[in-house]
Amino acid sequence: MSVRGIDILRDPSLTHSTAYTPQDRERLGLRGLLPYGYNDLSQQEERVLQNMRRKENDIEKYIFLSALQDRNETLYYHTALNNIEEVMPLIYTPTVGQACREFAQIFRRPKGFYITPSDRSQIAQILDNWPEKNVRVVVVTDGQRILGLGDLGANGMGIPIGKLALYTICAGIHPKYCLPVMFDVGTNNEELRADPLYLGYPEERLGGDTYLELMDEFVAAIREKYGNALIQFEDFLTPNAYKLLNRYRDEVLCFNDDVQGTAAVALAGVMAGAKAADVPFRDLRIMFLGAGSAATGIGDLMARALESEGLSQDEALSRLWFVDINGLVVDGRDDLQPHNMPYAHKEEQLGFLAAIRRIKPQVLIGATGAPGTFTKDVVQLMAEQNERPIIFALSNPTSRAECTAQQAYEWSQGRALFASGSPFEPVMLNDTIYKPGQGNNAYVFPGIGLGALAGKLTLLPEELFLTAAKTLADCVSEEDLRFGSLYPPLTEIRNVSRKIAANVARAGFEMGVSSLSALSDGQLEAQLDSETYVPIYD
Ligand code: NAD
Repeated sequence: MSVRGIDILRDPSLTHSTAYTPQDRERLGLRGLLPYGYNDLSQQEERVLQNMRRKENDIEKYIFLSALQDRNETLYYHTALNNIEEVMPLIYTPTVGQACREFAQIFRRPKGFYITPSDRSQIAQILDNWPEKNVRVVVVTDGQRILGLGDLGANGMGIPIGKLALYTICAGIHPKYCLPVMFDVGTNNEELRADPLYLGYPEERLGGDTYLELMDEFVAAIREKYGNALIQFEDFLTPNAYKLLNRYRDEVLCFNDDVQGTAAVALAGVMAGAKAADVPFRDLRIMFLGAGSAATGIGDLMARALESEGLSQDEALSRLWFVDINGLVVDGRDDLQPHNMPYAHKEEQLGFLAAIRRIKPQVLIGATGAPGTFTKDVVQLMAEQNERPIIFALSNPTSRAECTAQQAYEWSQGRALFASGSPFEPVMLNDTIYKPGQGNNAYVFPGIGLGALAGKLTLLPEELFLTAAKTLADCVSEEDLRFGSLYPPLTEIRNVSRKIAANVARAGFEMGVSSLSALSDGQLEAQLDSETYVPIYD
């Protein structure tokens, strides 16, 4: 290795910091550059945890961890993986919401790649400035719908950075393959534009054809530079989410995590919930509060899942009901978007409670960004109509959840099978402990990404998300279900991602969406091994 001395200590992807042995120090010209004492990786991890826990609040912990990522990648990923339940909420939702809001204030070092309208016709050229030449996963946002927090413009950069850290932590995709992109086409958030510290492109958002042309140029540039890199679209406003997905999905290896990742993770939770409630999945009636990209994405995949259980398309659609800000989504409403149309059933235009009373769903899924919308009346009615009501409050961050875990259990006398988008602590109720599952997309997208890379997939058809959902549901144990958890523990995440990756790659071979004809199981496992980054010093 040619890098030595102070350069190796300062290279975040190479440094072992105080973990260099005396022999290493001699060989690499490090004598005098380090304190005498030697720490191995686990001692360094302990120091990180002690320092992190001393920080007063979560945003300080976020800043601390982000600085560690800049200094020593191996230690950052090692600590995150070993302490995933503690660290994940700090590097992703809910803390990342605050980090995005305060992006301009807490900015320390540039991370990721920024594209603005001033880069038109030069995107491929400026991508040469990115130091890594073998990018294989790109996460891109335009910052217009960050979590449930609205248009945060360039402040949304925390999202692609966080998601890509999760690719590495949860599935072992090497950080050098990961490119976070802020597609900064301005913001309609006037408060941000007026902030003198705001770092984004300080104009109103680009729209219409100009927006699409710039995105076309970006996608083409990624393909030109990095061949078949996976592109994940993240936190776009719903109409753009669908527009972009439909524009590229048949030609480019890409997916939209809010639509498809959310769908797979929610479907898996509902499958596990149906098992716990002892109701056959094919008999479910499912009601959504919210009819945006998250809810509709889940609905679309649920419909496919019901069809795969033998229902006709019409039967499957008739099981899925949506309520939005204007009430039940029904035939004849003139304010619906194209993605709502398959679910606009012939029915009276009812309010939320009346709709629950009429349709009698066993499953209620909230994806509104509107906190408190699962009221006591709503939860009680679900519990009146079902022995084990399945209730998902998916809106992020925690402050936006439709109800809390405590409320769901309390108002249903402990009978609800509850999951949320952001984590909730276990709840103690009448001497029973309930462990709410987190319908975290991180259960799904890293595994899909790993499967796409290992299987050299060229496209990600919808069926692969169904494969991922079924695989995740199969990872939920009887023990998990006994505590009311509809997802496996996060500590199992690498095993879960690995299983998802293997099944997604196999399904991709079967569907002919791989540049390989197929791999045997042994070859596939070997390929997955070689793709998996283990954060230890080598
Ligand atoms: P969106 O803006 O496209 O859709 C929001 C929908 O909620 C709209 O249909 C709107 O009419 C409806 N709505 C808003 N307020 C309402 C109210 N008071 N009563 C009834 N309906 C109401 O947003 P989206 O992209 O679909 O995301 C929605 C939420 O889902 C966000 O908070 C996001 O954080 C969450 N989400 C969670 C996950 C996850 O946990 N895995 C993944 C993706 C999105």
